Amino acid sequence: MVGCLGKLYESVENLNHTYILQGKNKEIFLKPKAPVPFTSVSLVLLTDEPTDKTYYICDYCSRQSSFSDDPKTTCRTCSRAMTRALSYGAPPQKKDGPNESGFVKDAVTYMVMDDLVLKPLSIVSSIVLLNKYNVKELAAVQEKDVHFGMNEALKLLKASLHSSNVLTTVFLNDECDY
Ligand SMILES: [Zn+2]
Repeated sequence: MVGCLGKLYESVENLNHTYILQGKNKEIFLKPKAPVPFTSVSLVLLTDEPTDKTYYICDYCSRQSSFSDDPKTTCRTCSRAMTRALSYGAPPQKKDGPNESGFVKDAVTYMVMDDLVLKPLSIVSSIVLLNKYNVKELAAVQEKDVHFGMNEALKLLKASLHSSNVLTTVFLNDECDY
């Protein structure tokens, strides 16, 4: 596989289920059911609740027994198109703890490598990493805060399809023409 989505995939596959939030399932990431309505799963940026869905009911019948998500659907009673729009009120997001949205537990810090290999971060894994890259001077290690918005997400997706240095490409390469 060109790029490194394969490594990301493998990381998720290998991630112990204890890191996954209760009630969530990594299968939805590993085996996305495409094509599906984008309101239920967008394959890359996973969201599982539709937030701006519109439904339609008949504007003529006073007793409504059915609704549709397509305004061209005809009413079962009067056969006219169901044109009266209702907006979907999404229930409040269930939160088990601070910011527990997404798929993995918030209490754990995760390490994402340049080739998108992902694993839980620990002191041991950090030391192993410093050794692996032969870092002798800890002072040479730099910390960099990055902004991650939709733009960066698109750059990241693009880079992940053909490069193994995804984070470098997106965040450390200002002249990059993405
Ligand atoms: Zn009707």
